[in-house]
Amino acid sequence: MTTNETNVPFPVQPPPQPHEAPVEFIRRAPRVLPGKPGKKSAVLLLYTGGTIGMRKDEKTGAFVPDVAFLEDSLASGLLPDDEAMPQLSFSAFDPPLDSGDMSMAHWNAIARAIGEEYDKYDGFVVVHGTDTMAYTASAVSFALEGLSKPVVFTGSQIPLSVVRTDGLTNLVDSCLVAGSAGPSIAEVLIAFDSLVMRGNRTTKLKACVISGFKSFNIPPIGDGGVHLLNFDTRALAAKPGAAFHCRPHF
Ligand code: ASP
Repeated sequence: MTTNETNVPFPVQPPPQPHEAPVEFIRRAPRVLPGKPGKKSAVLLLYTGGTIGMRKDEKTGAFVPDVAFLEDSLASGLLPDDEAMPQLSFSAFDPPLDSGDMSMAHWNAIARAIGEEYDKYDGFVVVHGTDTMAYTASAVSFALEGLSKPVVFTGSQIPLSVVRTDGLTNLVDSCLVAGSAGPSIAEVLIAFDSLVMRGNRTTKLKACVISGFKSFNIPPIGDGGVHLLNFDTRALAAKPGAAFHCRPHF
């Protein structure tokens, strides 16, 4: 027992316990997607849900997240098999979530997934709904200490299954960043609408325009104008000698 300023005793609170991953948010084992042999880097894409992977349900007309649709599209050549692109592996959380349903337990599960796969890949792409992407990216940036690889969050305003989708550019940019550099881009990022921003400095501003995100107080670190991905690598480099720790303790 301790006292507050008026000397009224109050009980000391026990330290908060981390939120455990909900049993229904299950991560599938990664599957290596087809691609030209001899790629320079390997990237794990983790699909968590959101608009980007939605497909129209022909019966109801509603758009629903669909892991198989996204996986099949990626496996059958949705992304260019250019030599600048990394060798992609696909993993997904089941069921895929609208990001409005993400909780701290889901943040822990995503961080833990990256921690478990950390040594096997050169970078990570986390595909996420846009509404709370900035919160998850921020949380994951604090859970992954001593990062020496890129972790890139992305999603889209329009599903990949719709002709005017912005998801394709976002996915290509994210894969290029995640597969590009190892220790020179050691940060949790959000890649969206040709901008690459710090995950923990970014806010979703609008749902009705393609450029839905803004990085406040720090300019975007990559700008995919005509010269794609003009990075300020000084801002992103790994700290020499920093050991990686995954602390999914929200
Ligand atoms: N409601 C969706 C989500 O955040 C919106 C999106 O993905 O753009 O999951």
